[in-house]
Amino acid sequence: VPGYAPPIDDITFVFESIVDAAGLSAYPGFEHADVATMVGLLEEFGRFCVEVLVPLNRVGDTVGASYDPASGAVATPPGWIDAYRKYADAGWGSVPFPTEHGGGSFPWLLTVAMQEVMTSSCMSFSLCPLLTQGAIDMLEHHGDEEQREVYLRPMVAAKWTGTMNLTEPQAGSDVGAVRTRAVPAADGSWRISGQKIFITYGDHDLTDNIVHLVLARVPDAPPGTRGISCFIVPKVLPDGGRNGVRCIGIEHKMGIHGSPTCTMEFSDAIGYLIGEPNAGMRYMFTMMNTARLSVGLEGLALSEPAFQTARAFAQQRQQGGVAIIEYPDVRRMLLHMRSHIDAMRMLAYSNGRAIDQAKHAAGEQERVAGQELADLLTPITKAWCTDLGSELTRLATQVHGGMGYIEETGTAQFERDIRIAAIYEGTNGIQAADLVSRKLRIRGGAPVRELIATVEAATGLGDAVTALREATEWLLAADMGDALAGSTPYLRMFGTVLGGWFHARQLAASTEPGRVASSRYYLTQVLPQAAALVPAVTAGAAQLAI
Ligand SMILES: Cc1cc2nc3c(=O)[nH]c(=O)nc-3n(C[C@H](O)[C@H](O)[C@H](O)COP(=O)(O)OP(=O)(O)OC[C@H]3O[C@@H](n4cnc5c(N)ncnc54)[C@H](O)[C@@H]3O)c2cc1C
Repeated sequence: VPGYAPPIDDITFVFESIVDAAGLSAYPGFEHADVATMVGLLEEFGRFCVEVLVPLNRVGDTVGASYDPASGAVATPPGWIDAYRKYADAGWGSVPFPTEHGGGSFPWLLTVAMQEVMTSSCMSFSLCPLLTQGAIDMLEHHGDEEQREVYLRPMVAAKWTGTMNLTEPQAGSDVGAVRTRAVPAADGSWRISGQKIFITYGDHDLTDNIVHLVLARVPDAPPGTRGISCFIVPKVLPDGGRNGVRCIGIEHKMGIHGSPTCTMEFSDAIGYLIGEPNAGMRYMFTMMNTARLSVGLEGLALSEPAFQTARAFAQQRQQGGVAIIEYPDVRRMLLHMRSHIDAMRMLAYSNGRAIDQAKHAAGEQERVAGQELADLLTPITKAWCTDLGSELTRLATQVHGGMGYIEETGTAQFERDIRIAAIYEGTNGIQAADLVSRKLRIRGGAPVRELIATVEAATGLGDAVTALREATEWLLAADMGDALAGSTPYLRMFGTVLGGWFHARQLAASTEPGRVASSRYYLTQVLPQAAALVPAVTAGAAQLAI
């Protein structure tokens, strides 16, 4: 990432002026997590990322991960092993996890900021810690004591990595169609057989062991998502033996070439059931908010270095006797990027802050309110930020003119790398469906109405909030088919209005010229687009006759 500088000032602004990061240290267990300590850690992590991860980004893209069919081994790109060792040795993987498992017990909000910076530096690398985090989350909440002792500690210490094995050829968005089988063994363990596809870091050479979390069906399981169970399948067994799981190939992809996307074969692999049989889907839901927020962050995280690169290019590229940044249309592109980046950061960090509130606030009522807000914001953060990630990285290419289309410039890689974020961890279409069919309907629509009322209290959002309220009430009353037909424009509208709400708050909290220009642009040029989406939200299913 040519010349990427972690945006510590912008992140600190969001911590201090938008999400009340200071309030976190009032939560039990977070007494040590004051803003200065968190920003200090972030600065140090930023230096690590710039020094160790940024240099990997291009080689990850050009060389990529590789698979050796003879040995079945997956090799990460040059430099990955050394960088991972440094990441693990410094303890960066343990920051948000409980002290009793060897973690630092810091708020998720800090992890959100660290993830932004790590992903900006090298998205392909960041996916390995990210998937491990998801696996840790699952075991922390649903693993038994022995499972936590055996698997959690080495994963928190980044000695082992984790994977999520959901997808099969016939089971993509429809996770309930999973066919991988699990049969009980005499010793209380299980034998897992089946094939999984598209498994991120399913195999690699960074650590000795990999802890696969695998969705499978036990004998006589009910059909669909109610019959899915979750198993731990380690690559290396506790007795040191090699388990019956192997990678049989990796994909050739549009982007994230450094991240191996593996086809995994399980043949009578020894597995250990997590929790109860047939409860796997319920367990997946507990980690869904953090995983989806992480992917939403990728949209922000790639837009930021794309913006930094485009701005630097525009300052030095001469056309017509002046630097192209002097041209109004180039300034428009840059400001369009900047203002959306600010909005995405405020949204994603608020989402992370809500997760902290849900888990750690002292009072039950406050925890429930945090959970409801996180539930509502998560599909919006995931889909809005990743769609924008594609739009904004394209704009960065555009600012570069012809040079943007040339791979050596580096900006094309942002466009290719970010494209997957709208697809995995629930496609953006699935996020929109989740928003209108589930999240709006929590407590009969009370949380969404409360959020809209809060947004309305900010100044200058007039028509946009009215449109959001109308669209929301229409969706709550509509037939489900009609609601789903309007779900994607509705999610776009919701994200756009939340962006306006955050920018109104940014404008009230800052006189820094860059932030003021960003907020004014958003409020006058982007926010009005929200109301124009009402006809698309309310058109109904019958209009979609193709
Ligand atoms: C690089 C990469 C890494 C990945 N990493 C992992 C991983 O680590 N672990 C893992 O388990 N999986 C992983 N995946 C799989 C990924 O999560 C799936 O590809 C994704 O969930 C979509 O499933 P699908 O590809 O089968 O598409 P489909 O489900 O066939 O979707 C095709 C289209 O139909 C739409 N669609 C489908 N069903 C509905 C519906 N009910 N309502 C509205 N629209 C619908 C979708 O939005 C999409 O536009 C990865 C994939 C890739 C490409």
